Amino acid sequence: MEITLDDLPIRDDLRGQSPYGAPQKKVRVALNVNENTHPIPEDVARDIVESVAAAVLEINRYPDREFTALREALAGYLGHGITAEQIWAANGSNEVIQQILQAFGGPGRSILGFPPTYSMHSIIAKGTGTEWVEGRRDEGFQISPETVRAEIERTKTDIVILCGPNNPTGTPLYLETIEAAYDATPGILLVDEAYAEFMPADQPSALTLLEGRPRLLVSRTMSKAFAFAGARVGYLAANPAVIDALRLVRLPYHLSSLTQAAAVAALRHADEMLAMVDDIKLQRDRIVDTLAELGYQPWPTWSNFVLFGGVDDPHDVFEKLLERGIIVRDLAIPGHLRVSAGTEAETTAFLEALRDIKLAS
Ligand SMILES: *Cc1c(COP(=O)(O)O)cnc(C)c1O
Repeated sequence: MEITLDDLPIRDDLRGQSPYGAPQKKVRVALNVNENTHPIPEDVARDIVESVAAAVLEINRYPDREFTALREALAGYLGHGITAEQIWAANGSNEVIQQILQAFGGPGRSILGFPPTYSMHSIIAKGTGTEWVEGRRDEGFQISPETVRAEIERTKTDIVILCGPNNPTGTPLYLETIEAAYDATPGILLVDEAYAEFMPADQPSALTLLEGRPRLLVSRTMSKAFAFAGARVGYLAANPAVIDALRLVRLPYHLSSLTQAAAVAALRHADEMLAMVDDIKLQRDRIVDTLAELGYQPWPTWSNFVLFGGVDDPHDVFEKLLERGIIVRDLAIPGHLRVSAGTEAETTAFLEALRDIKLAS
């Protein structure tokens, strides 16, 4: 008889849960998980390989548990006067968020999020035994200072998580809302800035609010703008006391010496690694304009993807794109699909396929 999950003495609060499940399919044009689809420059790749090769020669030893060189490099990259003592990193910002919930959430504690938002936030909450509480957004997926204040006062959670720009909607998150949230909660406020580099250049990051706000945490990732998703490097900027809290829950040596070497090398070439961001923003804006011409309703976006409505049968359109070797994301938001901006050629392939599908229906 085949044993299933239900036959095991698993924690009661994990029964019936589903794992994170963005499909991983080998297709010609993959625009489903907001990766940077531009390969990294060859000279950068060479520097990374040489750095990793040097690290391999010392791989008999445990890595620097404090990943000092990486924290210094990340502090330098972020600027805003942020120092290495304010930086933490882990295997993807998902792990950073998990460590935050291990330290500040957990059984008997709760976290407020604002769906539709990044699905991992609630999955990490469940995995750490933290109660996930849903807040309401305003029209058009926005969160005004008044709304965030009212939702925090209504729910009184231990942690509040805001995602800006928001995934999967692309919606901007303004500093006024972050300030209002910080003032309204006596707890931890985490701002997930996975898409910060795709914001308009003149728009300030939540990093500018860190000074004097010890309960504000800002997470970032090298997975998106930095074209480094496969390496698994996410990070956090916060008060040094917050970093001390994370040291209590991290596994020792959680960042391998290979990861540290690769990330430090990549950060030496930050300008080159980020060279494609402007082009990605152009492709994103082209998607928004073309979708509107085709009669869809793209939402305003500050990220590297576009959520669009007006899709009569999202599942059907998803499948028809897949038949043409293009994968997008069906997030089960009625009438909507999400597409990541690709290279110019990938973006063109998507837009032309969608036009064909629309004309044929
Ligand atoms: C992609 C994404 C992350 C990412 O992840 P890593 O674990 O760093 O790859 C975090 N937050 C949001 C909102 C994302 O979309």
